Amino acid sequence: MADKITLGYTHLSGCTGCTVALADNYAGLLTLLDKYVDLKYMPTLADARHVQKVDVSFVEGSVCINDKLAVEELKETREKSTIVVALGGCACYGNITRFCRGGQQNQPAQEAYLPINELVKVDVFIPGCAPTPQMIRNVAVMAYLLLKGTKEQKDLATAFLKPLMALPVQGTACGASTACFCDLMTNVIDQGLCIGCGSCAAACPVNAITHEYGKPQGERDLCIKCGACYNQCPRSWFSFDVVENYEAINEAIMAALQ
Ligand code: SF4
Ligand code: SF4
Repeated sequence: MADKITLGYTHLSGCTGCTVALADNYAGLLTLLDKYVDLKYMPTLADARHVQKVDVSFVEGSVCINDKLAVEELKETREKSTIVVALGGCACYGNITRFCRGGQQNQPAQEAYLPINELVKVDVFIPGCAPTPQMIRNVAVMAYLLLKGTKEQKDLATAFLKPLMALPVQGTACGASTACFCDLMTNVIDQGLCIGCGSCAAACPVNAITHEYGKPQGERDLCIKCGACYNQCPRSWFSFDVVENYEAINEAIMAALQ
């Protein structure tokens, strides 16, 4: 195996659930750290307290624009990282930091908390609240293979990462800057990919989505184009490339973790 990749972990505004999900890889995390990843910066797991120059940075949490230090830390993370990964719903679209205050229902209340791609260019989204431990592990392994692997491994890593790399630049279906219900309709529902799970309706902070007969319906006049539904949809990053190469991708990940 080639050299390890260097990894940073910038922790902004969130509940720390993504850190817990990363740690929930247990032995897999130790294998990652042992063989593939040199953890250069992470407030909870590494001694370094300042953003370091790294190959890949994971960013957990949204960025509060009233917090100068957080804004600077995010910008420095971007400057010092080859690849920036928005880890989890708060970094991807704001999630609870932007839409929940003191109640069970989402409320659009905290406009100061922004998805990180509103301030810096983001290369990869890992959606979910929190993302699964396996998903975080798989992205870390695939980032390694993309940067250090053989030609065949780079191709598999590209197939795996491509839909996650498309998520930060979504939001073109109706001209919104973040993905919205139009994107969900165009890229998921109209493609026959919807599994009727209801995650989009549950995530919508303004109750613009209802479910009838297992199919989401959007009230477009209510939509504030926040991206929550698209990011929480398990099919928004579905990829036929991944399905076609599923066994080879799975084998590459499992082999790497041996
Ligand atoms: S439908 Fe709801 S969750 Fe989706 S973008 Fe619009 S406001 Fe956000
Ligand atoms: S989250 Fe996605 S898959 Fe689930 S109901 Fe909504 S559109 Fe369908």
